Amino acid sequence: MSDGQLAVIGVGSVGSMALWQASKLSSSTVGFEAVSPAHPRSAVGGDTRLFRMTYRGEHNYYPVLQTAERLWHLLEEESGQAILNRCGGLSIGETDGPYLSALLDSIRRTGAPHEVLDHTEMTRRYPQHQLSPRESGILDTRAGFLRTDRAVLSAVEAARQNGAEVVKDAQVREIRELGDGVRITTDTDSWKFDRVIVSAGSGSGGVLPPTMQPRVQPHRIFLTWFTAREAQQFVPENFPIFIRITGDRSLYGAPTVDGVTVKATLDGRDEPTADPDTMSRGLTPGEVAESLQTVQEFLPGLVPEIVRSDVYPDLFTSDRAGLLGPLPGSTRIYCATGFSGAGFKMATAFGAIAASEALANGPLVEGLEFLRPARFATQG
Ligand SMILES: Cc1cc2nc3c(=O)[nH]c(=O)nc-3n(C[C@H](O)[C@H](O)[C@H](O)COP(=O)(O)OP(=O)(O)OC[C@H]3O[C@@H](n4cnc5c(N)ncnc54)[C@H](O)[C@@H]3O)c2cc1C
Repeated sequence: MSDGQLAVIGVGSVGSMALWQASKLSSSTVGFEAVSPAHPRSAVGGDTRLFRMTYRGEHNYYPVLQTAERLWHLLEEESGQAILNRCGGLSIGETDGPYLSALLDSIRRTGAPHEVLDHTEMTRRYPQHQLSPRESGILDTRAGFLRTDRAVLSAVEAARQNGAEVVKDAQVREIRELGDGVRITTDTDSWKFDRVIVSAGSGSGGVLPPTMQPRVQPHRIFLTWFTAREAQQFVPENFPIFIRITGDRSLYGAPTVDGVTVKATLDGRDEPTADPDTMSRGLTPGEVAESLQTVQEFLPGLVPEIVRSDVYPDLFTSDRAGLLGPLPGSTRIYCATGFSGAGFKMATAFGAIAASEALANGPLVEGLEFLRPARFATQG
């Protein structure tokens, strides 16, 4: 006897979206969540995530981003909630430096809408950024920020309205594939489903088979917030999300969502952590000093004192691309995890792809070999 067609293990950023999308395809879908959807110790924590259509790197994420953007619109329509604020997004760096050059290379391949802003135009339009004469920017006109907890809770609510269930406080300890289904076991119960999606983020390592363990590692990522001297300068209408990478200095951030504080955080400072549940939530003295110095220099309109900081986990893979596809050798267990510090913007698309493929409805997006878990099965 089966308890349902599909179980989604972990109802966070991607699991909530998988549940929402699966609930449109199947009438028997259950989400199992160790704590509760959108809890603040997951990768949902910290209020907002950057959304952008422009990115660096060789992999072709553009079709995934296009699908994600369409589905964020749909989630807003279905829920009536404002989830994606399309305030635009700036990439700032040395005009001929590696950051902007790599971004422009990728924009040439994808055709993502953008505006190149030279130093004078940047300074005129966005005086909040104190630039050196060597720096300029690129405006991604479709970028913005996502309200994370609102997004996850809206997807869960939409899934429930379609008949899906969510079991909270249910930490899955084991997933075992049987001949005719998959058994999942918590501390108190066990269930059998036809198929399972593993979307447990930094907790996925505990339930993935030993063959995948060396490929994944939880990382800690910190966030810092500062007070605006004049809040109006940092509202979404005046201050797009930004990523600034100049030499070995970096900062990224989002406009104020509370009318007082602005998120501005050093980029690329993720570090492996042994146990995301017990990792320290404080910043090191070095992280504090570098954050203060960078904010003081880059954004003089912010008071250089950290008024809020926290640390959140995400699951990283050894090549920093996610795990999206069937577990190697399995027809019933599907991975949607390991999004390595970059997954929220594409969570709707990853969830939809996972739901469609796990329920054998076929691929939604082609060309995703770089995300398939099978790439690790063929490596030594
Ligand atoms: C500080 C920070 C900043 C980031 N900034 C950006 C950004 O600006 N833009 C962007 O696109 N991405 C960003 N990312 C990355 C993005 O947030 C993550 O890649 C994405 O949210 C991961 O989603 P997930 O569903 O894999 O994990 P989560 O959202 O953490 O969800 C996993 C869920 O599974 C549950 N769970 C764990 N183990 C079990 C178990 N055994 N049984 C049942 N449930 C379990 C957890 O409680 C949790 O609710 C950032 C990440 C961090 C941490």
